[in-house]
Formats: sequence, structure tokens, C-alpha cells
Amino acid sequence: MPQKLLKFVSVDKAMPQKRLASERRRDFDEIYREFAAEKAAEQAGRCSQCGIPFCQVHCPLHNNIPDWLKLTAEGRLEEAYEVASATNNLPEICGRICPQDRLCEGNCVIEKGFSSVTIGAVERYITETAWEQGWVQPAKPRRENGRSIGVIGAGPAGLAAAEQMRRKGYAVEVYDRYDRVGGLLVYGIPNFKLEKHVVARRQALYEAAGIRFTLNTEVRDLEALRARHDAVLIATGVYKAREMAAPGIGLAGIVPALAYLTASNRVGFGDKVPEFESGVLNAAGKNVVVIGGGDTAMDCVRTAIRQGAKSVKCLYRRDRANMPGSQREVAHAEEEGVEFVWLAAPEAFIGEGRVSKVRAHRMHLGIPDSTGRQVPQPIEGSTFHLDAELVILALGFDPEDVPGLLAAPDLRVTRWGTLKIDFRTMMTSLDGVFAAGDIVRGASLVVWAIRDGRDVAEQMHRYLEARHSAALAAE
Ligand code: FAD
Ligand code: SF4
Ligand code: SF4
Repeated sequence: MPQKLLKFVSVDKAMPQKRLASERRRDFDEIYREFAAEKAAEQAGRCSQCGIPFCQVHCPLHNNIPDWLKLTAEGRLEEAYEVASATNNLPEICGRICPQDRLCEGNCVIEKGFSSVTIGAVERYITETAWEQGWVQPAKPRRENGRSIGVIGAGPAGLAAAEQMRRKGYAVEVYDRYDRVGGLLVYGIPNFKLEKHVVARRQALYEAAGIRFTLNTEVRDLEALRARHDAVLIATGVYKAREMAAPGIGLAGIVPALAYLTASNRVGFGDKVPEFESGVLNAAGKNVVVIGGGDTAMDCVRTAIRQGAKSVKCLYRRDRANMPGSQREVAHAEEEGVEFVWLAAPEAFIGEGRVSKVRAHRMHLGIPDSTGRQVPQPIEGSTFHLDAELVILALGFDPEDVPGLLAAPDLRVTRWGTLKIDFRTMMTSLDGVFAAGDIVRGASLVVWAIRDGRDVAEQMHRYLEARHSAALAAE
């Protein structure tokens, strides 16, 4: 039998085919095509089956990557899917949007010299095949256990917890203020990274498993939910956009990133979006300046290109090596025509009622602060101007006032405003109320939200079992 593994010396790294930038610029479809079966097996076969797989260590879900790669290389895809889905509730989504260069692939031992195994693309391929073949089945419990949980937030943390708890026999009800399931998967992340039918397909699966979704419902009274359910999970994410102070910041044409991306995603769904139609949240024909260097900024610049902007520039105060966003995303953006203005910060926004220019200055990186990051310092006399009829602020997100919003003043928060939990039990300061995802961690990643959702489900189950046993003993 021919050798199916350890082929990294003879087979080069290959991603699934990437669509041409000239084509990508004109639509919102995902940029990678699917692997063909032989290609996936060939790429999986590059794995050297490490004794200590650093890819697995650096995957937040500790996915059993070497095993599923081996099974894929051998053509045993149904088993590969079983292994991949045993630790991940949304493997096809992580395969698409995890920053693999910073996680599994960035730590693959053959990365140095031979280029890493394309782990994310194979994970996506395995799970897409499972969907096609009907191997993905709803998490139906063996029996109902008669207890119920309420989940606030239908983002990846809430969804992973809901699925895990449903599997254990709980009645699960998920509440969300949005009209669709997915949180930032539907209204933050653009289609060209994650097409929305991928999320809708999951929603149908959860519904088939018996999970109830109560949408268009902003929870404002935590006590009412506690009275209705045996335990409650808060997985509400972080949505307060960081602001900046600068002359002219109030001019028309300066918009927050999430409002811009949400409008674009809604247009993709075919919804009527007045602010898009009026041009407020539409980049068509404009010179666009995006301020920030994270993944949200990358999504904004690439969306603006697709909307037909005249020019798109990204202004970031540090350099390329020190930006928080994924290098892979920067490369995609550059191919699509985005210009990066590194080491530059805005000073003022200029215009008559509406912005027409950004005044900015050059920066250099000074001495490191207590976190070890070099602090950007302005260079005197380096002022320059950029034309801008649309400025998008992508400066990051903080938590909203959750105790205030949920009318729960006893819910304790950290000094950053995230919910305070006991890191062993994942319970908040209120008995039977748990929290997970960005609202605990601060703005993070989908894969961490899934990890937290899975962990919190274990803890909620443990808590409810203990309470149940105590009640039986007291009878
Ligand atoms: P969310 O996904 O934010 O979901 C929270 C849900 O709670 C929302 O649906 C919200 O409507 C709901 N909610 C809030 N308050 C209430 C209430 N009171 N009542 C009812 N419902 C409520 N991560 C990656 O790994 N890869 C990426 O490429 C990536 N790109 C990103 C791009 C953008 C533009 C942004 C903003 C984030 C991106 N992230 C990415 C980060 C990732 O999306 C988040 O870390 C992740 O979605 C957090 O999951 P969550 O479940 O904690 O919260
Ligand atoms: Fe890599 Fe993300 Fe998949 Fe983990 S979940 S193996 S980090 S792509
Ligand atoms: Fe395979 Fe790379 Fe993981 Fe080693 S680190 S098991 S080569 S994917």
C-alpha cells in the first residue's frame, strides 16, 4: 500500500483555489473554492503525525487534528468528521474564519521551511462533505431530563452551549435581540469570509434538535428569565464601539464599523436598509478611509472595495508587523486594491457639515510599555491629508453596561466591564446564572466563544445535577 502520510517533503503546501482578486472585488462570495477530494487527501497527507502535535496544543478546542488528517489522507471521511465534530460545534465555520496563521497552522512543526499543513481548509472540507452526505445530524437527546435553561445571545458561545445542553436532555430556549441566529457570524463577519447559508443551515439543525429560538427579543429583565428556567446563560457579546476624540469627529460621513458591516450584511440578505440606500452606510463612488488595524478594520476595507469605492485606505498607527489583524487578511485586502497607510494616525476630520478630508500625521514606534508593546509616538511636522467622503472607525469594542441592561444590579463586572465569573464554575455573582464568550473575555474569536460555550455547558450541567441530587436527598 502506498505511503499516505509524511508527504510534506514531496508535496508542496496548497490552499484551495483562491478566486482572482479582479473577480472577488465585484461580489461578496467566499474567496476560496472547495478542495477537490484528491487534493484534500494529498494535503492532509503532508502531516508528519507528530508525537506532541503543537497544532492541537494551540487550537483553543484542542481538536484532534493529526487523527482527522490521517483519516482524510486515507479517504475515511465519515470517521474524520466524527473526530472533527467531537470537539467542535462549528467546524466548517472555524475552518473558514479562524486566524489559523496565529493558531493551529502557525504552530505546525513543518511550518518552518516546508509551510504548514492546511488544517483549516481540510477541516472545512471534511465538514462540508459531511453536510453533503447527510452525516451531520441534530443533537437529539436520548431522554428529556425535565429541566430547562435559558440562553441570552445566539452567537457562537450561546449556540455551542445550547447544543451541548440539548444533547444532555435539557429543554433549551435561546433569546436574541436580532431577527436571525448567529450573532456576529451573521451581522459582523462579511459574506466573503462566511456565506450566511452556512449559519442558516446550523440554525435549522438546532431547531430540528428541539432548541427553541425566541428572536427579536431583547432581554431586559434577568429575574424574569431566572424564574422561567433552572439556569440562565448570558452570552451577549461586546458591542460598545470605542470612540475617539478629534476635531471634526461629529461630521456626517464618519460612521462606526459595526453599523457599516451590519448594513452590508443586511443588504446581502435582501433586507431593506434605508441608511444604505441613502448612501450613509454605502461606500460606492467614495474615497474611504478606515481607521484601525484589527480584523474588523480588514472586513470594512474589503467590504468598501466590493461596494465600489473610488479608493480605500486603511490608517493604522503601528506597522504591519505590529497590527492585531491577521496577516492573511491583509494580503487578501492588498490583492483586492486596499492601500495601507502604516504608522499613521488621524489628527482631525475636515469638511463643511460632512467630512471631505482626514488630516493625519506619521508615527514612529517608541519604547515598549508595561505590556511589552512599543508605544506609537507622533512625528512632529509630518502632517498630511487624505481625501475621504466616508470614514469608518474600527477601534475595537467594549462591553455595554450588562447589569444595567438586564436590570440586575447584583451582577458583578470586572474593571473592564466584562462579566465577573468564578473561573472554575463559570458562574457569575448570581446563583444559577452563568456567562461565556466575548462578554467574559472581551472581544475575541469565534473559536474561543465555542470553547467557552462547551465549557460552560459542562459547568451548568454539573451545577444542575448537584442541585437535583440535593433536592432528591431532601425529599
Ligand atoms: P456574539 O457573536 O456577539 O453574539 C452575542 C449575541 O447576543 C448577539 O446575537 C446579540 O444580538 C445578542 N444579545 C446581546 N444582548 C442581548 C440581550 N440583552 N437580549 C437578547 N440578545 C442579546 N472571530 C474570528 O474567529 N474570526 C473572524 O474572522 C472574526 N471576524 C470578526 C469580524 C468582525 C467585524 C467582528 C466584530 C468580530 C469578528 N470576530 C472574528 C470575533 C467573533 O465574531 C466574536 O469573538 C464572537 O462572535 C463572539 O461570540 P459571542 O457568542 O460571545 O458573541
Ligand atoms: Fe485550527 Fe480553528 Fe480548526 Fe482549531 S478550530 S483546528 S484553530 S481552524
Ligand atoms: Fe501534523 Fe503539523 Fe500537527 Fe505535526 S503540527 S501533527 S505536522 S499538522
